[in-house]
Amino acid sequence: MINLEDPKKFKALVGQANQVAMNMLRPISRKYDLAEHEYPKELDMLAAMIDGLSESGASEGAGATGVRREEDDGDTTVKNGTNLASVMSVAEMCWGDVGLLLSMPRQGLGNSAIASVADDDQLKRFEGVWAGMAITEPEFGSDSAQIRTTAVKDGDHYVLNGEKIFVTSGERADHIVVWATLDKDLGRAAIKSFVVAKGTPGMEVERLEHKLGIRASDTATIRFENCRVPAENLLGSPEVDAKQGFAGAMATFDNTRPLVAAMAVGCARASLDLTRDLLQQAGVEVDYDRPAQNQSAAAARFLRMEADWEAAYLLTLQAAWMADNRQPNSLEASMAKAKAGRVGSDITLGCVELCGYVGYSETELLEKWARDSKILDIFEGTQQIQQLIVARRVLGLSSAELQ
Ligand SMILES: Cc1cc2nc3c(=O)[nH]c(=O)nc-3n(C[C@H](O)[C@H](O)[C@H](O)COP(=O)(O)OP(=O)(O)OC[C@H]3O[C@@H](n4cnc5c(N)ncnc54)[C@H](O)[C@@H]3O)c2cc1C
Repeated sequence: MINLEDPKKFKALVGQANQVAMNMLRPISRKYDLAEHEYPKELDMLAAMIDGLSESGASEGAGATGVRREEDDGDTTVKNGTNLASVMSVAEMCWGDVGLLLSMPRQGLGNSAIASVADDDQLKRFEGVWAGMAITEPEFGSDSAQIRTTAVKDGDHYVLNGEKIFVTSGERADHIVVWATLDKDLGRAAIKSFVVAKGTPGMEVERLEHKLGIRASDTATIRFENCRVPAENLLGSPEVDAKQGFAGAMATFDNTRPLVAAMAVGCARASLDLTRDLLQQAGVEVDYDRPAQNQSAAAARFLRMEADWEAAYLLTLQAAWMADNRQPNSLEASMAKAKAGRVGSDITLGCVELCGYVGYSETELLEKWARDSKILDIFEGTQQIQQLIVARRVLGLSSAELQ
């Protein structure tokens, strides 16, 4: 039998995340939307609390750093583990504010990359760092195989040269996970990721972007000029394995895409919750016991949006659950990201429409959530790219066969 209820063991974690979202993120949400590029200093205390919970073991997967596949110990028991805990708590925090969640110290997408692919020694060395992730370059976004940033081995270091754009937390994070190629002629297999500490000579933040949404989060352009990185900071294997191709680097996405889907789910849930209240105040009752077509147009639209939300939520849980249970989940991670990214934008904008001028004005956060959610359908692979990946997997075609 399929049980679609949230696991009981995560009730306390989700409850805590909801309290934090409501009492600590929501109250400063508008402030940092307006004060773009100003660091939300209130997050320092919150990050310390999350560290404390994680250290005490009281909070399994309280943030983005929980995403790691456990070793196969032969135990075939079904697990609700850290991946599931992470997506549930991230969704709850994004019910509070996506931009602030993305600004949370030590919870960057680079942290997820480290958690996903670092070996035990690296995990220990990079424990407690705050890492952004730098893939995108001026010449490409979606097609990561086009990476031009180079990494050349020189003794016990790699020397990085290139430019990275749109790096989330690129200014505030203390480390950046940089994707670079060891040899452009060897194609995708030669792309590796490197953990670079801020302050390393040759690494410079050039500028910050002004954005439509998630304005609490900084987005930076970073230049690398003869930047020397210790060889042991290369994540995963230094071997260029043509057979494995891009698989090593791409494995990160199997863990991070469900997290981004969870962000979209959380933000859309915030819009739906507020819209239900506002509709009720306007005399529109949403009745879950009657067919949508027998209700007012507003209630019927609301019910359709909730059904879409539910589908996105369940796909997100499924992708994370599969990671917890060591099942290959590339297809499901992309399905979750595609569905949640699209319905996240549709729902938040739909809520603006349903609530009329209240939806569009700054008296409520609905207009902000509509702006914030758009990026979740873009970064970590756009809607179109997710659909392409799903199509390739379903049809059994390679990236060369279906572009
Ligand atoms: C606020 C923000 C934060 C970001 N944070 C990060 C970060 O932390 N780290 C990082 O590395 N990057 C980050 N990015 C970059 C982001 O991942 C890229 O913007 C994204 O991958 C898309 O790349 P692009 O903008 O170059 O668009 P392009 O790749 O040029 O695509 C343009 C359009 O064409 C579509 N398209 C492309 N190829 C195909 C195809 N084969 N078939 C059909 N349609 C296609 C795309 O879906 C898109 O709609 C961020 C971007 C933003 C805006």
